[in-house]
Amino acid sequence: MSKAKILYIEDNSDSMTLVKRVLEIEGYEVISADTGREGLAKAFDNRPDIIITDINLPDIDGYEITDTLKKDKLTAHIPIIAMTANVMKKDREHVIQAGCDGFISKPIDIDELPTQVENFLRGKTNDTHSNSRKLS
Ligand code: MN
Repeated sequence: MSKAKILYIEDNSDSMTLVKRVLEIEGYEVISADTGREGLAKAFDNRPDIIITDINLPDIDGYEITDTLKKDKLTAHIPIIAMTANVMKKDREHVIQAGCDGFISKPIDIDELPTQVENFLRGKTNDTHSNSRKLS
């Protein structure tokens, strides 16, 4: 089985290069976009398995991207992971309230990143407590 297709939306070229390299080494197909609008267009065109998005982008931000994609039935099912430098609990809650399925903190821990992405692809979110109560 081929590995998942990941759309990564990021305007910082250093982060883009680093994350793309780490994920491609893991065998993922990485589609990149460096603006919010390009990210939205590529989400609709490529229907990735998961989207990782920066929050602060030059045109539309990660919250608006999330809102647009979650409202469209073609893309509503795609997990969206926010990559954010905001470490405050309240900022993390904001990310989840905006409709994101999880978050990855910046600075990016490249040793942790593959596991984080794999967990999100398996449907695990940062809210592990509520998930573990699932009935079988
Ligand atoms: Mn940014």
